[in-house]
Amino acid sequence: MALEQLVLASGNKGKLKEFRHLFKPLHIQVHTQADFKVAPVAETGLTFVENALLKARAAARTAKMPALGDDSGLVVEALKGQPGIYSARFAGENASDRDNNDLLLEKLSGVIPERRSATFYCCLVLLRHHRDPAPIIATGSWYGTILEAPQGRGGFGYDPLFFDPKLGTTAAELSMAEKGQVSHRGQALKALIEELKG
Ligand code: IMP
Repeated sequence: MALEQLVLASGNKGKLKEFRHLFKPLHIQVHTQADFKVAPVAETGLTFVENALLKARAAARTAKMPALGDDSGLVVEALKGQPGIYSARFAGENASDRDNNDLLLEKLSGVIPERRSATFYCCLVLLRHHRDPAPIIATGSWYGTILEAPQGRGGFGYDPLFFDPKLGTTAAELSMAEKGQVSHRGQALKALIEELKG
């Protein structure tokens, strides 16, 4: 499927920055849902894929063009998968990244480093139009551990607490290009592009 333009169904500034970077080489015109005044949807699903689909459908309907929905978050093993789909609102509806990180550290206090494993997970859903019955779905996972204190100043969300043992740095210490090479979002987008090429 040749895709000339799409709308990104997200209002998260950190994600939008990363997506713009990842889409740059693809020659696809990327709009944001703010360009079309897409109203935020209630994320009522219980899984990443449900929420990504809800976001993409709302954006495709309002913008009248293909839409890419992203639902992503941090899945922490010692917390039985929390914050998961609630990552953005872990510490409450309008929680800041700082509030969410503080709560994560609090919940993991006393948990030894070997038990602090976590996965960043991303689900992407591409709808060609709002009634597309066969969306393209791609996922990506990034394995790491949660530190006991933040490290690094880049990125967004839980990046300063997420340590990649293979790279020996947190996500917040990577440049956007480096993060895109290894991240859940970068991997999911790579898989989606492969699907698009068919
Ligand atoms: P969503 O916008 O409802 O998908 O919520 C995503 C939330 O998951 C963000 O607000 C962050 O808290 C977290 N998250 C997702 N991807 C990342 C990432 O790449 N780095 C740090 N936090 C992330």
